[in-house]
Amino acid sequence: MTGQITLRDLAAIDVEVLKGVGEKRKAALADYGINNVLELLTNYPRKWVDRTNEARVSDLVAGQEALVIVEVRKVSKFTTKNRKTIVNVQVGDDSGRLAAVFFNQPWREKQLKVGSQVAMFGKPDLFRGVLQMSNPLVDLIGDRTGRIVPIYPQSEKAQVSTWELATWVENALERCRERGISDPVSAELLSRYELVDRTTALWSIHFPETMVAKQDARRRLAFDELLRVQVVLVGRKRAFELDNTGIRHKVGGKLQQRFISALPFAITSAQQRVINEIDHDLAAPHPMHRLLQGDVGSGKTVVAVSAMLAAVQGGHQGALMAPTEVLAEQHFAGVRNLLEGLLVPDENNLFGDRQLRVELLTSRVTSERRRELLRDLANGGVDILIGTHALIQDGVKFSSLGVAVIDEQHRFGVEQRAALRNKGTDTTSMTATSPDVLIMTATPIPRTAAMTVYGDLDVSVLDEMPPGRTPIKTFWVAGKKSESEMWEEIRQTISHGQQAFVVCPLIEESDKLQVASAEDTFKTLSKTELKGLKLGLLHGRMPSNEKDEVMTKFRNRKLDVLVATTVIEVGVDVPNATCMVVLDADRFGIAQLHQLRGRVGRGAIASRCWLVTSDAEISSPRVDALVESTDGFYLAEVDLELRGEGTIMNTAQKGRSDLKLASLRRDRDLIELARAAATEIIGNDPTLKSHNEIRDEIDLLLTPDEEEFLFKN
Ligand code: ADP
Ligand code: MG
Repeated sequence: MTGQITLRDLAAIDVEVLKGVGEKRKAALADYGINNVLELLTNYPRKWVDRTNEARVSDLVAGQEALVIVEVRKVSKFTTKNRKTIVNVQVGDDSGRLAAVFFNQPWREKQLKVGSQVAMFGKPDLFRGVLQMSNPLVDLIGDRTGRIVPIYPQSEKAQVSTWELATWVENALERCRERGISDPVSAELLSRYELVDRTTALWSIHFPETMVAKQDARRRLAFDELLRVQVVLVGRKRAFELDNTGIRHKVGGKLQQRFISALPFAITSAQQRVINEIDHDLAAPHPMHRLLQGDVGSGKTVVAVSAMLAAVQGGHQGALMAPTEVLAEQHFAGVRNLLEGLLVPDENNLFGDRQLRVELLTSRVTSERRRELLRDLANGGVDILIGTHALIQDGVKFSSLGVAVIDEQHRFGVEQRAALRNKGTDTTSMTATSPDVLIMTATPIPRTAAMTVYGDLDVSVLDEMPPGRTPIKTFWVAGKKSESEMWEEIRQTISHGQQAFVVCPLIEESDKLQVASAEDTFKTLSKTELKGLKLGLLHGRMPSNEKDEVMTKFRNRKLDVLVATTVIEVGVDVPNATCMVVLDADRFGIAQLHQLRGRVGRGAIASRCWLVTSDAEISSPRVDALVESTDGFYLAEVDLELRGEGTIMNTAQKGRSDLKLASLRRDRDLIELARAAATEIIGNDPTLKSHNEIRDEIDLLLTPDEEEFLFKN
């Protein structure tokens, strides 16, 4: 091998070449999860101990956790009457002595050799006049001399000490010195983004001279992880654009103008901005592939309709696909309402204008009516088609699908998105074009998370609510007394003609138990708190005609209260429902609670939401967040915080994942940098021809699973 050493080279070097790694150590390392030098070098320390900063033994205080670096002075083991082993250890530094005791860890006797240096972390207690730590965390640091000592993830099972790992890493890095480790990122880019080179980063993450050097190293290595992900995402996006010819829509035409000026309200500046972003895409030669995020009620429909009208203006068609029949029907009613009386400029028409035609297609549209509809769709007589996944069935042919809108993206898979997109492609023709696709979601995720999770899409955000909404008031209810006050308030509200939702406790383990819980809640409430009122029950296991019946009754105010499972989470729109109760609210996630709450506050009347928890003492941080704010983006940020690490891949995969350092939560700025760098790289070199090394690292490090994950989630 010649030239600088690549990651692939490192992956091809067995750990057995390292000094001190024989048969036995090799097996231990394999148990630990390390087989080659690349795995060794990317097994990053879990923490770093700065010797000059650590407590000295004389500083220890009983009852306060601390980390000390000490020398082992004496070790003894004995077994108690009931066959438990106890290992007593005396340690100390030049300021004093400390005792440590280990229960049922007989191997400590061998591990802690007299004279060795260890980092010990624990809470000392005064025991017979001496400070003593029970079962402290211990890391052997050997005779490492640097000021800052790396501490590696521990594995009791594998029995590889942090000291051994450090020694091998050092040995490996030393042996790379001569040839040098190659860096796939150009020096220009590194200096522009203020990133250290790869060799420096690898040395400093393991053996930093200073804590600042360690931070810089981490930043560079996390950047590399994110860059690989973003190059894949941006690359796919670009490939899609290059492979597909889009329609250059005529945007901003008369039809769109008429629509906007006929609205009974002024559009918000956020709506205007997003319409411009979309128009820009629609006019371009590549098909649009854009995600529209906007909280419930932010006015996504107007934006979607404007996009579809751009298609209609140029003689094409628009389609809107919703995840359920109820939602499709609601959209149909809503869109028809918005478009009532709108005339399409048409030069072929005697009057210069013609009526716009909007139709609904669900599985309920059958026989003659369906045949007629499909015929008119195929000959261009239908301008806008709204429906469920019935839209992507085989027999459905558009004359020319120009803009496809998909609502509530998380309900559809990637394949379904693709199927709708393909409705615009006549595969028999050489001049096939792909429709522009707009995906709408009411589940806000932070911008940088969107860049990763929806990395192959452009993202628009409706971050402003139309004026005149009374914000929903949210309360935390805990304990019997406040609960009965809550029911009383609900009864009063209902007596004024309004309606209420009651969401049943979530039981994730089983659908069946979930239904039972809903039926239980329904029965109990009918007999107790809500006696005498008209209650309806809605859950996922009911046949869809029964579900519809209940929904229709509720919408027509034949019911006062709808007791439901989370089936009401998406889209149900009943402006007269102004109260929502969520039982056992602490069982739900933030996003789910936010979606549920979005079912109220849809009319002019002030709405209220009560989040009930059984424990009056302990508040739930998620419930607190909902009480505090109605801003979906804020809540999404809190959610990410609360979920801790905010890792990009699911945690189960984490050990093996390429994303070892990068975190969605901590590395927002790095995600943006990596995105920008990837866009630049792909922009100049879409097939990575002159970026062989990056391409190779992606092949090496991102498993197909991980790549799929990036697109599926
Ligand atoms: P979303 O789909 O984002 O939840 P919708 O598009 O259903 O929201 O809009 C919610 C309600 O707000 C609808 O009744 C709609 O007519 C109304 N609306 C939309 N935009 C505006 C606006 N700019 N000003 C006032 N009302 C608006
Ligand atoms: Mg909507």
